[in-house]
Amino acid sequence: MKIVYHPRYEEVYASDPAAKTGRMESILKDISSQFELVTPEPASTTDIELAHSNWHTANIQRSPETYELALLAAGGAIKAAEMGVSGEPAFGLIRPPGHHASPDHCWGFCFFNNVAISIAKLRQEGIVNTAVILDIDLHFGDGTESIFGNIPEIIYFHPEDRGRQGFVDSISRFLGNQSADVIAVSAGFDRHEEDWGGQLKTEDYLTIGQIVKEFSEKVCQGRRYGVLEGGYNHAVLGRNVRAFVEGLS
Ligand SMILES: [Zn+2]
Repeated sequence: MKIVYHPRYEEVYASDPAAKTGRMESILKDISSQFELVTPEPASTTDIELAHSNWHTANIQRSPETYELALLAAGGAIKAAEMGVSGEPAFGLIRPPGHHASPDHCWGFCFFNNVAISIAKLRQEGIVNTAVILDIDLHFGDGTESIFGNIPEIIYFHPEDRGRQGFVDSISRFLGNQSADVIAVSAGFDRHEEDWGGQLKTEDYLTIGQIVKEFSEKVCQGRRYGVLEGGYNHAVLGRNVRAFVEGLS
């Protein structure tokens, strides 16, 4: 298991909670001794336009630093996806996040839809046809759904159960009925009991990672990867990411 990371992800490009000073560093300090880091390249505009209109891309370009970092985040997701399908599960420790980015607009601290771009690229290259995207962020990934809503080969699932065990069980139940060439996780950590959602414990992220691993080994030759979405309490974020990555390993 490797972590896709770029030092530029530490740059503060906005005043929103996802872009806050120290957020990436708080995760890195908890996982960098345990997992090898891999450096990604920025995505190309051709990659971005697998999921977004050129009108949207031009809009983001108006803020050059945000644009560069959003390309680098999408590139990080692409790198994690490429590793994930070649038998080396990976986690994209990337920012800005992506699941609220739709073809033509974005909100919620997102600019380009990292996970959607990475899946679309795997499909364009003929590496996979079908995919499951599991989104464990507190918030519904409206961007991901709007990008893939009409594509039956891509199944997007955002568990809504408000209990702890119920949430984990609903993931198992859902995956029990799926088949796919790859599974990607939009891994937000804002459901944690000490984050905005007040719901999950750290060990639940370990369990979810294990469930995804078992699904991938049973159904899609172990092809799996995750990318960071939300998660805002720097005091607990690192150990939650570590638990998830350990489960996925
Ligand atoms: Zn969120």
